Amino acid sequence: MIPGSFAYHRPTSVKEAVGLLGSLGEDARAIAGGHSLIPMMKLRLASPAHLIDLAGVADLKGVCEDGKDVVIGAMTTQHDLIASELLGKKIPILRETSLLIADPQVRYVGTIGGNVANGDPGNDMPAVMMCLDATYHAAGKSGERRITAREFYRGAYLTALKPDEIVTAVRIPAPAAGHGYAYEKLKRKVGDYATAAAAVVVTLSGGKVAACSIGLTNVADTPLWAEEAAKILTGSALDAATVKKAVAAAEAITSPASDGRGPAAYRTKMAGVMLARALARAKARAGA
Ligand SMILES: Cc1cc2nc3c(=O)[nH]c(=O)nc-3n(C[C@H](O)[C@H](O)[C@H](O)COP(=O)(O)OP(=O)(O)OC[C@H]3O[C@@H](n4cnc5c(N)ncnc54)[C@H](O)[C@@H]3O)c2cc1C
Repeated sequence: MIPGSFAYHRPTSVKEAVGLLGSLGEDARAIAGGHSLIPMMKLRLASPAHLIDLAGVADLKGVCEDGKDVVIGAMTTQHDLIASELLGKKIPILRETSLLIADPQVRYVGTIGGNVANGDPGNDMPAVMMCLDATYHAAGKSGERRITAREFYRGAYLTALKPDEIVTAVRIPAPAAGHGYAYEKLKRKVGDYATAAAAVVVTLSGGKVAACSIGLTNVADTPLWAEEAAKILTGSALDAATVKKAVAAAEAITSPASDGRGPAAYRTKMAGVMLARALARAKARAGA
């Protein structure tokens, strides 16, 4: 339960941070809130020789609007997301999701950047980011680039990020005013990772679905964007028969592990149940 020894670095700019990651090579890891990385180090599942602490990089913090997008600095904590008036107004699913992550102690230090870059299929924010069609800003030794959340996740703990890159911000196009949303998460106890969870954002027009997006958490090696299920719902009034078809389409793309959270078939079914609940709640909120 004691991590291996490491050298500690505390850069004050993005340039310095990526410079350190580039020069120290694959033995170096960025650390943000440390609430995923430190437990891994204690279990010796990770033993970086160098930790590059991003906490001293002021440019990585905060939430702002940029045209029709909302941009969230990577070091913004889950607690900050809950407290943000801008997010509460424009993208309330982030507040709802953050409140379902761990407990206040973790949320005070756990960051959005760490949550999305970690690559753990159990993290809640990645599926929400896929649902919202977010884009991650990355910086590395060869400059800056943007990667959509929908193409970022490649496998468990495997992402499109290069070893010398960090996520600097998350850019989210604000969903239409009056959209409905919900994040439904089944967990064994307060503070647990999801057995299965579903994120829904839906826009209704004349009682019919004009736009819909769905993300699923912890029911495959990566978070899932349930594109086919959303297509089935588009144009419908979210009636019971269409929801049933969409739920079946979402269940069909899952491939969860059988583990302490239950057998694979159960977790697939729970993904469907979470989706049906999220759709009902999003529908009730749409236009409100
Ligand atoms: C008891 C407990 C319960 C938890 N329950 C949940 C839960 O239900 N749902 C959930 O989503 N999470 C949960 N977490 C995890 C928590 O939300 C973490 O804080 C979060 O996943 C990682 O954020 P962090 O800032 O702590 O990142 P760190 O632990 O510092 O880093 C995690 C990984 O991301 C990398 N990294 C960090 N920041 C960046 C960056 N800006 N760019 C590139 N790479 C980066 C690190 O190198 C590391 O590999 C739980 C944690 C604990 C301890």
